[in-house]
Amino acid sequence: MIPKKSVNVDSAEELICTSRFGTFFGVPQQVFNRVWQALSRPDSGSVAYVSMEIGADPDIFHPVQDFLREQAYTKSENPALLRLLKKYLNGPRKVPNYSGGLGVLAGDTLKSFADLHMPVFAVSLLYREGYFSQLVDSRVGQIDQATQWSPEATPTLFQLEDPEQPGQPLELTVPFFNEYDHPTLAKAHVWMKMEISEEMDYFVPEFLLDYSIPSSPPWVREAGLRLYSAKSDIMKANQRRMLGSGVLPLAERLGLTIGTIHLNEQHGVAVTLHLILRQLEKKLGTDCHNCMSDQDILAAAEEAAKRIVYTIHTPVKAGHDRFARSLYTGISHATCHRILDLLANDADSPHEYNFTAFAMRVNRAVNSVSRLHRDVTRKQFPEFAQKIRAVTNGVHHLTWISSARAAVFDSTDELFGWRDDPGIFVQAEIGNDPVFLGKLQQAWAEDNRTLVNYVNRMLSEHRSRMEETWIDPPNYLSHLRQGETSQLSPGTFTIGFARRFSTYKRADLIFEDIPALADILLKNNWKVNFLFAGKAHPQDEPGKSVLKLILDNQEELYTRSKGLARLLFIPGYDMRIARMMVAGVHTWLNSPKRPLEASGTSGMKAAMNGVPNLSVMDGWWVEGYHEGQTGWKFGYEGPLTADSLSEAPETLLYAEDSRSFYALLPKVLEMFYDRPDEYLQLAVSNLKLNVPIFNTHRMAAEYVRKYNLRLDPETAARIEGFARLYKSDSCD
Ligand SMILES: *Cc1c(COP(=O)(O)O)cnc(C)c1O
Repeated sequence: MIPKKSVNVDSAEELICTSRFGTFFGVPQQVFNRVWQALSRPDSGSVAYVSMEIGADPDIFHPVQDFLREQAYTKSENPALLRLLKKYLNGPRKVPNYSGGLGVLAGDTLKSFADLHMPVFAVSLLYREGYFSQLVDSRVGQIDQATQWSPEATPTLFQLEDPEQPGQPLELTVPFFNEYDHPTLAKAHVWMKMEISEEMDYFVPEFLLDYSIPSSPPWVREAGLRLYSAKSDIMKANQRRMLGSGVLPLAERLGLTIGTIHLNEQHGVAVTLHLILRQLEKKLGTDCHNCMSDQDILAAAEEAAKRIVYTIHTPVKAGHDRFARSLYTGISHATCHRILDLLANDADSPHEYNFTAFAMRVNRAVNSVSRLHRDVTRKQFPEFAQKIRAVTNGVHHLTWISSARAAVFDSTDELFGWRDDPGIFVQAEIGNDPVFLGKLQQAWAEDNRTLVNYVNRMLSEHRSRMEETWIDPPNYLSHLRQGETSQLSPGTFTIGFARRFSTYKRADLIFEDIPALADILLKNNWKVNFLFAGKAHPQDEPGKSVLKLILDNQEELYTRSKGLARLLFIPGYDMRIARMMVAGVHTWLNSPKRPLEASGTSGMKAAMNGVPNLSVMDGWWVEGYHEGQTGWKFGYEGPLTADSLSEAPETLLYAEDSRSFYALLPKVLEMFYDRPDEYLQLAVSNLKLNVPIFNTHRMAAEYVRKYNLRLDPETAARIEGFARLYKSDSCD
């Protein structure tokens, strides 16, 4: 049962809306107008949320689609609308512009902003070749393939039109300078995707800039093709600039006002350069470039800083952009170098501009993504320790709670209103209600069956693919003779692990000592499925080797454990697979090297479904772990040392942390197989303790305090209610 929307929509026709920029579909005209006006009011102080990636796949959360499916949309007599609806419901809808947690967090955040009616618009890039698609071969490991998609054929994406030339695409002009201060004009078309609130009474527009168009110079076109294209440093630097430099021209062209710019990671920090430049021109005039002093620049930066909120997402080096000064001089204006010389210098590396340092210096608020990450970031940037605060990440509960679990919550009086307010779970008396417990258990079993069926189908497909093509499927089980042995059965204890394959995440940690692991299972005759998924960045060779190691372990684990342990790899990790996995497993494994996982969000998705985590004390888990209630901890949790931030293989603590895992595992399995009622209570505690906190409504409410928005009193009060549930920045 999907609750009725509060918005009054009787037919699909009413979801067509128009403006100077074209015709769109998804919200009623009055909702469209209300949001657009809120974003254009000079005093609204709206937020421009700038992110290199945004993950919000419509196949796992899409209120409009649910609504259309519920309503008899076929009643419409308008043939053009019927065609549109058919495409809208059945056409390709995914926009491949995320690679992992950062993007999914951005998508979840925007959905909560929409649910909370906040005046926000997002800016990102449109990548015509997306992020790569993953094939896996058991001898080669990961094989990267270009992603086939077309924005033109994606019915949830709308290309903005030029109001002066209706029917023609709106074309932004973004000037880039070279070392002679000559401008090159990059051109971008603008696509809009709407994150529509659960109630369909609000939306947050996402503007995706498409630079890969004929009127752009070839180097710009190429730099825009793929997310995190890393063919060369210059291409990487240009891709970052295309994001940051597009923000102000976009807002101006659309007539949107910006109070705050939220940098979701430093990738888009070029916008800060432009704010500083504009401030200088405002104060000194447009031909000020030769007469400005360092003091002028610093004063302008101080003004620009008042408009910027910056979220830093990782202590890991690869997440922070540094570019050789010589490279940057070739691609920017002399005044830019002066600004960067003053504000992006890096004491450890004088030949480079450090964009994290730049973002760290010029803002009015900076936050990390968990408490532990705040402490680590303060150590990394002692100069700014005072201003670094924590806003712990969350996930969009409506996206990640499985349909089976959601149906249980919908039918439980104690949980009335949980869709609007995930804080409800705190006081709900559900732990002793046998009806609720029975339904929850059934829903879990159903989600587990769904996952197991998916994996079994995948195994059969791999088997036939092996016979038809040169690709050798990644799973040892599909090599076994057809029948019982090669299929998983529902109800077997299932551990899930799915993340980007970066070495610090240590996907292979628990296979460090396969004989020890097999022994634990053999002694007690415990069956266990290990389900793994995730992509390694195409240029991340060490990450790819870890993925290959997982494949290489499959056979040994199976034979040593006499078939009790089955390790499977699910290729093509995306949000849909993530949603199925977090709900369908019995525990969610997280084995990074502490403290390199700044937050981690997949574990929160598991918790939303009541699934306990089995995790190193890192990131959000330091806050989400409650002994005996929400899951288990293992691994090193002593003080941070000089080696803590190192990713060198010898500092990754494989031996210690895997031993700690093997010591813990029997306790987990014993409870699951011998005391299922106790195991089910872990689910209840997760719902009560962690759902209210690790959701993006609460997180958005904490950000609102940094945004200085002018909200109507009712909206402000509702948002404040979420912020009161938790204070990320308190010190314990
Ligand atoms: C949630 C999610 C992630 C992030 O998971 P972490 O636990 O933060 O590593 C990455 N990819 C996809 C597809 C996700 O859904």
